[in-house]
Amino acid sequence: MRVLVTNDDGIFAPGLHTLVEFLSDAFEVTVVAPDREMSAMSHAITVTRPLRVTEYGGFGSKIPAYMIDGTPSDCVKLAVDALSDRKFDIVVSGINSGPNLGTDVLYSGTVSGAIEGVINGLPAIAVSAASAEKPNYYGAALFTVKLVKLVLSKGLPEDTLLNVNVPTFSTDQFPVKVTRLGKRRYINVFDKRTDPRGREYYWMAGDPHDSSEDDDADTEAVQQGYISVTPLHLDLTSDALFKDLQSWSFDEK
Ligand code: MN
Repeated sequence: MRVLVTNDDGIFAPGLHTLVEFLSDAFEVTVVAPDREMSAMSHAITVTRPLRVTEYGGFGSKIPAYMIDGTPSDCVKLAVDALSDRKFDIVVSGINSGPNLGTDVLYSGTVSGAIEGVINGLPAIAVSAASAEKPNYYGAALFTVKLVKLVLSKGLPEDTLLNVNVPTFSTDQFPVKVTRLGKRRYINVFDKRTDPRGREYYWMAGDPHDSSEDDDADTEAVQQGYISVTPLHLDLTSDALFKDLQSWSFDEK
């Protein structure tokens, strides 16, 4: 089975290297990843300048790998359309340094790498180590190999991907919970500072504040030490409002 691996932390990121090491024991792996960090680039694609592709030998001679001066979505598009003449069976994006929980998925380059796979008709998984300080790449990679096997045997419905967050745990057990996206907002987002010339600038950061009371929320599950597996669908249409909206009088003066 052929696995396309990408990420948003860049081709040198340790999470990517651990993932490739584990996946390549079980599958035929190709890596196409950004040449630098592209976190929080969401689903951006590069259309106003050319994309450069450089072969990368850092995974050994048996694993074809390319680095791109573009986003995770660029990488998956290029891999599927231009760099490989054979079809991939699945796309895996990660392992990200830090969580992609709740609303994070809308900004995440990791999740978008997987989404681009789904857009191209492939099953896809996004994987994040939920603690950037103590990233559990080992546990995340072990679990991802299991999950890829499951997805390849069971398949995923159309336009659907799996978003996985792995907390730091010390056992070889996999406490897994199937989850929904939780509610996550960031507080104290902007740090206002002064540069050496006396001009003010803002640096975006912030601390996550999770407000889900739903026990099935990914934010809650990871907090409780579970690996969260959230099925995500590409169709953002609100079915509830779709019907109600039809009764609005748009032409009323
Ligand atoms: Mn990242």
